[in-house]
Amino acid sequence: MESRSFDVLIIGSGAAAYAAAIYARRYNLSVGIVEQSFGGYTAVAGVIENYPGTPQIDGFELMEKMKQQAVDELGAEVIEGQAALAKNEYHCFEVELTADGRQPQADDEAVTLRAKTLILATGMEHRTLNLPREAEYRAKGVHYCATCDGPVYRGKRVAVVGGGDSAVKSANQLVDMGAAHVFLVTREGNVDHAEPINRDRLMDRVRAGSVDVLYETEVREYLGGPPLAGVRLSKPHGGTDALEVSAVFVEVGAVPRNALAGELGVILNARGEVHVDPVTMATNVDGVFACGDLTDASGSFKQIVTGVAQGAIAATSAYRDISQHGRACAMHAMVAPPSIVPSIT
Ligand SMILES: Cc1cc2nc3c(=O)[nH]c(=O)nc-3n(C[C@H](O)[C@H](O)[C@H](O)COP(=O)(O)OP(=O)(O)OC[C@H]3O[C@@H](n4cnc5c(N)ncnc54)[C@H](O)[C@@H]3O)c2cc1C
Repeated sequence: MESRSFDVLIIGSGAAAYAAAIYARRYNLSVGIVEQSFGGYTAVAGVIENYPGTPQIDGFELMEKMKQQAVDELGAEVIEGQAALAKNEYHCFEVELTADGRQPQADDEAVTLRAKTLILATGMEHRTLNLPREAEYRAKGVHYCATCDGPVYRGKRVAVVGGGDSAVKSANQLVDMGAAHVFLVTREGNVDHAEPINRDRLMDRVRAGSVDVLYETEVREYLGGPPLAGVRLSKPHGGTDALEVSAVFVEVGAVPRNALAGELGVILNARGEVHVDPVTMATNVDGVFACGDLTDASGSFKQIVTGVAQGAIAATSAYRDISQHGRACAMHAMVAPPSIVPSIT
């Protein structure tokens, strides 16, 4: 079994994780980053226009720059894999990696990482519509990322489900990628949750005849195939409730990836987000910090700029924690827990 130790082990590889890595390396701490899929949501968010200093940058390129700074310039180490198990061994954290995310089995070639402090930056994962056979249609007409899969549907009719900023941005993006027509299906009566600039762009496309917004409407069933041939709507559009589309892009929010936090005894709020002190990004577990979309630090306002700020704070708190407590993983085995330290008479 392979085993390595770090001052700070960062779980996740999105914007919050790489910002934390940059700051932690500048504090001269040894840093490991567990990377399951490069760049997180930012890498697939399309063009980013609200990250200060870069008026227009592709999200993938932004993440490449962050990774280059953290790894090539500052020397953080990337360990590819998915953190599947985390243990708190008396202030020394142990994390086991697997290639596929399942719990490590006895005969696996497991990689174990040890760290004085942990920074959790595992973000969120897309919600599904939870319709019958949704898993069978996955990547066969049902998709969760317009940037990744949109270009395949050039010249085809597609639908986006959702009414928030991600849904509106995806609908605009699909038009720009050459979809023949985009239907935005939202159960709300408006798209007021989207950023005004993205909403205005959507309305430009509606006026140009490339988008229809189907308000107060839900997708009830996937039709045909797989691959997908259409969807059943909760109310008719153009005289029928069977809408012919080649693809559906589901953008109905996300749920926090909180399994590791749960294993460590970290307190979650009612939405499943990791509860942190917004001043320090500390969780209730000594030595465990969290940042980015995973946390409740900035409420429901989750952006790249909030994630990187929280990553910077988490790294600073990990540095202070190590400086103050002098955590030394390798020595913990020799230090008796407080309950059995003999009293000095
Ligand atoms: C379509 C879309 C468009 C967006 N547009 C914008 C925009 O224009 N501007 C903006 O500021 N924000 C935008 N956002 C939001 C922004 O992308 C997120 O706020 C940001 O990515 C959060 O970063 P994060 O690092 O917290 O999490 P994420 O980006 O979600 O990264 C988390 C990473 O952790 C990894 N991970 C999870 N579990 C494990 C594990 N057990 N082991 C190892 N790795 C793990 C995941 O694979 C992922 O790579 C958009 C989001 C979407 C979906």
